[in-house]
Amino acid sequence: MNPVSYLRARDVDGALAAIGKPLESSTAQGDARFIAGGTNLTDLMKVHVMRPARLVDISRLELARIEPLEDGGLRLGALARNADTAYHPLVRTGYPLLSSAILAGASPQIRNMASNGGNLLQRTRCLYFYDLATPCNKRQPGSGCSAIGGLTRQHAILGASEHCIATHPSDLCVALAALDASVHVTSTRGIRAIAFTDFHRLPGERPDLDNTLAQDELITHIELPEARRFAAHSTYIKLRDRLSYAFALVSVAVALDVDEDGRIREARIALGGVAHKPWRQPDAEAALAGAMPGVDAFARAADALLAGATSQGANDFKIPLARRAIVRALRVAHAGTASNLGHDQGRDAPDSGATP
Ligand code: SF4
Repeated sequence: MNPVSYLRARDVDGALAAIGKPLESSTAQGDARFIAGGTNLTDLMKVHVMRPARLVDISRLELARIEPLEDGGLRLGALARNADTAYHPLVRTGYPLLSSAILAGASPQIRNMASNGGNLLQRTRCLYFYDLATPCNKRQPGSGCSAIGGLTRQHAILGASEHCIATHPSDLCVALAALDASVHVTSTRGIRAIAFTDFHRLPGERPDLDNTLAQDELITHIELPEARRFAAHSTYIKLRDRLSYAFALVSVAVALDVDEDGRIREARIALGGVAHKPWRQPDAEAALAGAMPGVDAFARAADALLAGATSQGANDFKIPLARRAIVRALRVAHAGTASNLGHDQGRDAPDSGATP
């Protein structure tokens, strides 16, 4: 049994004071952790993968509001529940891509509990990461990677290193990457904003570090820039081993700005299930700017997105699967958002009132 001290913070300043001095690195064995919904951290604590000595409960902080920004964007409180975010009228109408991505993830029960900030910080579902009997560089730096040469069906085809081939499991994050979100954090040193594409890391030589957040920094909110021009042509396609409550083998978030003639003015594409972070490739998006839609243009974009992809044997299928999924997502998004809503089976009832 691992002893844990618990403190419920009354306000942000109290939470920052309680988290204490920064540690040298934000490894899985950190000294103190914030906890909100606890949907991933408590799982990891039960199997002793994470063993924080202190938990600072931030669930009562006033960071749950979802509100419009003066510049036309939207602010998502870090403690807003995933379900409340997905069903918020400003999200559904202005950012349907985000709504679809959230509803493709987890289960209604988990979405009702999980916070937006916590979703960003969830850890890989690599089987070996959860298995204390096997070496894992992410769990124990320098111990080795059991996935390489092991079971790799869920593992990365892009951006992996010889030290880790894990994937990031979030659906919400794939949409946030495509929507050019920014993550706003605070600490006793001040506040800062992190571009979403810079928030998560590739594994490199430090797979124990999932993101660029310091151990003592608290996510306060996420900002979405104004994106109304993308709302009519977006989609989130998630391919997985079963229809619900499964992590993506491959997912694709697409948002297109399309002119009256059907020509693509601007394209945003992010992939999930394929790398240690949501995957974007500016060259692929630039190639679609000004293009008329069509299989050839979409296939070229897919090839650019997947440039450099490598597989491990058991996940060889992911490369052609991702290629087809990208082409399909671009086709579906171009046809119109209204044509692809409703594929998120198992959705929570919008007025269930289940969120605390
Ligand atoms: Fe650990 Fe990463 Fe290797 Fe999985 S892929 S065993 S998380 S080092």
